Amino acid sequence: MKAGHILAAVVALAVASVGLVLFVGSGLSQSQPAAACQPGQPVTVAGGELPGEVAGWSGEQLANAAATIRAGADLGIDARGQAIAVMTAMGESSLVNVAHGDAVRADTIGLFQTGPEHGSYDARMDPYQAAVLFFERLTAVPNWQDLPPTIAAHRAQRNADPLHYEQHWPDALKVIAALSSDTAAAVVPAADNPGNRYDLGPVQPHTQALAEEVGTRFDVADVGGHRESAVDAGGHPAGLAVDFMTGDDVALGDAIVAYLIEHAERLSVDYIIWRQAIWHAADPQAGWRPIADRGSPTANHYDHPHVNLRPTPSATSGAGPLECLSASAVAPAGLTVQGEWVAPVDGPITSGYGPRWGKFHGGTDFGAPCGTPIYAASDGRVIYAGNGPHPRLGLTGHVIIIDHGAGVQTSYNHMYAGGLGVRPGQVVQAGQLIAVVGNDGFSTGCHLHYGVYLEGQHTDAEPFMAGVGAPLG
Ligand SMILES: [Zn+2]
Ligand SMILES: [Zn+2]
Repeated sequence: MKAGHILAAVVALAVASVGLVLFVGSGLSQSQPAAACQPGQPVTVAGGELPGEVAGWSGEQLANAAATIRAGADLGIDARGQAIAVMTAMGESSLVNVAHGDAVRADTIGLFQTGPEHGSYDARMDPYQAAVLFFERLTAVPNWQDLPPTIAAHRAQRNADPLHYEQHWPDALKVIAALSSDTAAAVVPAADNPGNRYDLGPVQPHTQALAEEVGTRFDVADVGGHRESAVDAGGHPAGLAVDFMTGDDVALGDAIVAYLIEHAERLSVDYIIWRQAIWHAADPQAGWRPIADRGSPTANHYDHPHVNLRPTPSATSGAGPLECLSASAVAPAGLTVQGEWVAPVDGPITSGYGPRWGKFHGGTDFGAPCGTPIYAASDGRVIYAGNGPHPRLGLTGHVIIIDHGAGVQTSYNHMYAGGLGVRPGQVVQAGQLIAVVGNDGFSTGCHLHYGVYLEGQHTDAEPFMAGVGAPLG
């Protein structure tokens, strides 16, 4: 009942800023000290005027988001739950309190597009009350706090497409951060949030956060992160350096550098190199000191400020509920604790690897209801995400293949076209939601066919996964 009624303009904005359907990764919690977090805390809405615009959302939309956040805080719902509600309202009504239904059902109304079975007309048309009703549905979903946000929202709303809301998660985080009284949380995405604009490669979470904040603020198109070789091994190779490519726009570089210096403590800045000079946060009195000529304009940093971060993020970089939210917006807790490999789906093995029906079954089947989340089994890069049958592997339905390096690949198939959540080339992490179970292709029931390939040859996933600490079934 929920698809197809989104205001086109808002969708265009959201899609333009986050790409297609995107997912929240995992693993951040591993690289960030848990002690820095205070999970389970609600966000309260800051007093005074609301911001004019956040990520393309404005006016009534932000007022309705604020009402939603207030309702959650009053109910003791934590920041992640509040963000799920804002995301859901974005997906349902574009945060506009509409008195009419959609193409699927005429009698669904309000911020959350619910029907009369969910409450009185007046309650559903009151943003605060409608949010209270949503939180009642959400908290009735078993294990809602462990589910990926879009799945939790889907189960609370019972909408058609379980992945429908995910595109709004980055914006929900931005809106909730902007409306929050927790000013330390104003830093928008931490590493591996789906709203990340820049693909920096493997960098530290506070490096990604700095790049997102500064790059977005100054609308820098090209931002560099991880690189194997650099003058300072503690910089790009360590995931602790960012290059803001400014070309011949010296004023832009100057503005970025001024901002970095102004926020050096909060952003954990160690040093900045710009126009063949270096500035150290530990010794600001020294100012800018010239450095040796390294040759080209790029090597001399005439076309880009380079910022190096301290290895340990500053305490003021945020340990509030929203920073925790960034860290907790991951696949179910426990999926990543084993380290690098996780089971791709929560479901029983219904058919193992080996001879079957006179042919060879080159993978492992898991029975699971259509719409069940499928997770990347390990860190890697998506090398195929599209329609089957896959030309080389013969997998049918819609297919995802992830390359994990070292000659290891995994495959996932039988999804529907709308059940894919990643694009070719996308970097994913162990436990990241990549798709939902379908029944497409050569399939006689909702299931995931999961394959493990070593040097291109399929292998039995069960002993392999047991060997990497993620036993199946
Ligand atoms: Zn650099
Ligand atoms: Zn199979």
